[in-house]
Amino acid sequence: MTPPPLRDQLGRPLRTLRFSVTDRCNLRCQYCMPEEEYVWLPRKDLLSFEETAFLAARFAALGVRRVRITGGEPLIRIHLPELVKRLAGVPHIRDLALTTNGVLLADQAEALKAAGLHRITVSIDTLRPERFRSLTRRDRFEAVCRGIRAAREAGLAPLKLDTVVMRGFNDDEIVELFEFATAEEAEIRFIEYMDVGGATAWRPGLVFDAEAIRDVMRRRYGSVEAIPASDPAAPARRYRTPDGRAFGIIASVTEPFCRTCDRSRITADGRWFRCLYASEGTDLRGPLREGRTAREMEALIARTWSGRADRGAEERAALPDHERAPLFTASDLRSDPHQEMHTRGG
Ligand code: SAM
Ligand code: SF4
Ligand code: SF4
Repeated sequence: MTPPPLRDQLGRPLRTLRFSVTDRCNLRCQYCMPEEEYVWLPRKDLLSFEETAFLAARFAALGVRRVRITGGEPLIRIHLPELVKRLAGVPHIRDLALTTNGVLLADQAEALKAAGLHRITVSIDTLRPERFRSLTRRDRFEAVCRGIRAAREAGLAPLKLDTVVMRGFNDDEIVELFEFATAEEAEIRFIEYMDVGGATAWRPGLVFDAEAIRDVMRRRYGSVEAIPASDPAAPARRYRTPDGRAFGIIASVTEPFCRTCDRSRITADGRWFRCLYASEGTDLRGPLREGRTAREMEALIARTWSGRADRGAEERAALPDHERAPLFTASDLRSDPHQEMHTRGG
């Protein structure tokens, strides 16, 4: 008999886990890595693939069914398909996905698919090469486009595209990006610019919010109809245009969804964060390297999840606009890089 799912203080099950496999990245997106210099995690602290798969199995035994590999940029982690293969073999995991900026995807899509990856999400914020360069500080737009095509050709379906919409930066491309997604047989999700660690230039006025996005889509397509959620824990709310095409909005800033959140994140060095906004994480690498047994690790995870009461985005949303500022300054982030979005994994 399957045991009842493990629940936190707000009754939320442990279901979705994100593994950040590196804190490094080959882009410098303005909303994530705007600084010139970063403090990196020591390489000796990075979990091996064996350690990662061992942890995944402990989480799966306690209820995790969906795993997403992220970063930093996960495709710069050497031999990543090997990790995918190990994770695909963990019992009970029925959804294995990866989020990437797409720069290195053209070369890796087939190997990832062959290793057992189910789905992929590619982040793309603009279709204009010049703008891509100024948003990411790297000239890799064409490589991302090739990566998207390669993912589709490798059968990594359903393909998703993620776009962070920033007012005054790319809010004029919502319709074009939606049409691009259709042409690439992908579903696009528009993400509100969040005040997470790393977003040191965030301010309320730069958030192009969910209602504004729906409004752009309504003006272009006539109406947008909400699609009833098949999974209440999914971060994106989905909509349909009158011609039946779907898109999603992840409105973490103005319409947060903490009440149903079953997600948590493990950094590349084994720190487990129960919320994207949590200031403290639980060290899993230490006990693992001390030789704790599978049962002992599961007991630690179960105890920690049972105590979870985090509602980071809802708490931030309750603040009046004039009190909302970036979550951390660049100097806070240098003193603890675990607070960075590119370390925690988005
Ligand atoms: N490098 C990969 C990528 O960009 O897809 C994976 C890691 S990245 C941290 C994961 C996602 O977080 C990306 O879709 C990115 O756009 C999103 N992200 C990063 N900073 C953000 C912010 N301040 N607000 C909203 N989304 C953000
Ligand atoms: Fe951009 Fe992802 Fe790299 Fe952050 S981790 S800078 S979002 S590509
Ligand atoms: Fe989940 Fe925390 Fe994000 Fe809320 S802020 S949806 S609790 S990770």
